[in-house]
Amino acid sequence: MNGKNMGVRLVLDAHTHTIVSGHAFGTIREMAQAAGEKGLSLLGVTEHGPGIPGTCEPIYFANLPVAPRRLCGVEMLYGSEVNVLNDGTISLKQFVDRLDYAIAGIHMTCYRNEGRERNTENLISCMRHEKVFFVSHPDDDHSPLDYPRLVAAAKELHVALELNNSSLLKPQFRLNCVENYKTMLPLCQKLGVPVLVSSDAHDPDDVGRFDEALALLEELRFDPSLLLNADVERFKRFIGYTK
Ligand SMILES: [Zn+2]
Ligand SMILES: [Zn+2]
Repeated sequence: MNGKNMGVRLVLDAHTHTIVSGHAFGTIREMAQAAGEKGLSLLGVTEHGPGIPGTCEPIYFANLPVAPRRLCGVEMLYGSEVNVLNDGTISLKQFVDRLDYAIAGIHMTCYRNEGRERNTENLISCMRHEKVFFVSHPDDDHSPLDYPRLVAAAKELHVALELNNSSLLKPQFRLNCVENYKTMLPLCQKLGVPVLVSSDAHDPDDVGRFDEALALLEELRFDPSLLLNADVERFKRFIGYTK
């Protein structure tokens, strides 16, 4: 489903993982082929940063200038899903300048829940990093967030908040994720904060899979003009990508 019934066609997927992340199942070429077959124009590969067991070493990110910029007719961007740490810093400390963008996310493999306010402060602290343009799956009450505060910070810091389709596919892993999106998304609409719909695919079959997210957006009558996935040029402008 590409969101046509919302009056918007989603043309890019900016949060995906390959075998480089250690627990995903496609190569960049297999992921790009899947993106092309689904009619996407742009694919963002965002391997996990340090802190996720089995992910790559920082030298992978150092070598990103060598990575192909077009595969199977699909434009390729390369970022990282970096971990929010309890000291309010991101887990990737080296070669961050080589990334096209970073997505900051809390993962319980390397984060200790400190309660709603402190979690929100740690996340906002990471959102201040110059490469962080997105927050992944801000939807899980294993590390609860203060949504009015988070959305206001996103507005101030030029960060888009993600609606993660994988969370909706496996809601048993992300505590109260649907309820949390029903709190967060209307706040985004009220403040005009852009939203990134992501597959968070760990397998080629899931690239560009947005069905559950689009159904939720439709239920909430969400303004499609706030979706960053609808326009490649707008997405690139948002992250300051000029190539
Ligand atoms: Zn994640
Ligand atoms: Zn991810």
